[in-house]
Amino acid sequence: MGLPASSITGARSAGTYQRHQPEKTTLYAVVRENLATLYTAVEAGFEGAALPPFVRKELDGYLDCGLLCRGFARLKCDACVEQHLVAFSCKGRGFCPSCMGRRMCQTAANLIDHVLPPDVPLRQWVLTVPFVLRPRLGYDGKLLGAVTRIFVDSVLGWYRRRLRTTTRERAESGAVAVVQRTSSDLKLNPHLHVVFLDGAYVAGPDGQPVFRALPRLSTTDVADVLQVARARILRHLERRGVISVDDEALLVDDDLGQRDPALAQLAAAAVSGLAPAGPEVRRRPVELAFEGRSGVVISAPLSVREFGFSLHAATRAGGEDEKGREALLKYVLRPPLASERLLPGPDGLVRIALKKPFSDGTYAIDLDPLSLLCRLAAAVPPPRFHTVRYAGVLAGASKWRTLIVPRPAPAPADQPGAPERCPPSNQPDPGARPRSNYRPWAELLRRTFGIDIDTCPRCGARMRLIALITEPPEVARFLRHLGEPTEPPSRAPARDPPYWQSRVLRRKHGHDPDHSGQQELFDG
Ligand SMILES: [Zn+2]
Ligand SMILES: [Zn+2]
Repeated sequence: MGLPASSITGARSAGTYQRHQPEKTTLYAVVRENLATLYTAVEAGFEGAALPPFVRKELDGYLDCGLLCRGFARLKCDACVEQHLVAFSCKGRGFCPSCMGRRMCQTAANLIDHVLPPDVPLRQWVLTVPFVLRPRLGYDGKLLGAVTRIFVDSVLGWYRRRLRTTTRERAESGAVAVVQRTSSDLKLNPHLHVVFLDGAYVAGPDGQPVFRALPRLSTTDVADVLQVARARILRHLERRGVISVDDEALLVDDDLGQRDPALAQLAAAAVSGLAPAGPEVRRRPVELAFEGRSGVVISAPLSVREFGFSLHAATRAGGEDEKGREALLKYVLRPPLASERLLPGPDGLVRIALKKPFSDGTYAIDLDPLSLLCRLAAAVPPPRFHTVRYAGVLAGASKWRTLIVPRPAPAPADQPGAPERCPPSNQPDPGARPRSNYRPWAELLRRTFGIDIDTCPRCGARMRLIALITEPPEVARFLRHLGEPTEPPSRAPARDPPYWQSRVLRRKHGHDPDHSGQQELFDG
């Protein structure tokens, strides 16, 4: 190697760069200790069916994420003595907090720098769907894509009609639609967070697009949008044979249960929040009750429900509010679980501490490790499951798009010492031009190994790739030299049955002022 070990930072040795150590978190420990048990329990319980390969790959990959012993890149600063070893990441799309946190930052930065017109107000519209549709939508990317398109088109149509002055005037809003897969307690709940330009573009006197802001939004408007979107979505699902409607109820087919019984069990459990029931696989269609046919219910200002669907549109960020825009985008793109929200709980349980308590006062969920792993497994999206889409004037095909997206600015990485919002973004985007400091190896590192190191943390100059160390003998030789572990932390073997003795407890603050009255309720 010809490199004195003492000049390398990035491992556990002291230095300006500290490798994040995922293996030190509660999440890592719980997965490491229970993954083999999950696999065994699923095979024992679900008629011999195993979890599908894409789920296992993600769970196994998470245990290797950020570990130097699984390979690393050597980077050196162009200007000073700084050197790093950077471990490969799992690039997880389901729950890995560090990979998804990094992607959140990249995507938010990309949206601000390349996609969303500056100085235009943004409004978030959140659509949730009935429980019985969630397992199906969670594993049918095409169907979820269609539901997303129908919903986004319904809202775009509403903006168009509201903001044009004559029926012949072209008025077009735009949207970035993000699929979130879970609720904050990690239950499977595929739902849509869509950020709309809160207004519409119309053609000015010279034919150039001019933004016209929405003057005001009422709860009745939100209810109108939900009624239209819900009817269109149900019509589409009916045409596709996913549901059938009779006088009393909606029936949902069991396509997932027939295609993949293990996944269907897992999904049903992850939606309800309970552990899988064991060998009994439900094959009958399930009913979606019409909830009394009372129509739209107002749950809060700009927030309405109808027959298991809900729509919320109260969150807005002004055009001048840079911080608010960025916070909104990060909220929309946030990972399902932040590392620090998973804690050891009492009696061998694991605690999900909620960032924002539920409306019933629940501030944490304590659950047994296997129930947690079921929720993590269900959080993994199937392959080719798109989570971010552009629509309206922001769609790649829109003629106005190039006229309204931000003009490319000098890249922050070119200014040493510039404050960094997030790790620099190289996110490819239909409208983004390659940056002036585009470097193919950096792109390669990002895509192949999930590594995102651009600037030296000591002096701000660029880092340069010296070598990729991927061959196990070479990796081991290097790490031995540094006194670093050459093997990953060992996984616990599978426990013996019985497996599905689920314990899920909701922790609630009582109504007494001293908060001493803590309730334990069985979830579900
Ligand atoms: Zn440097
Ligand atoms: Zn990862």
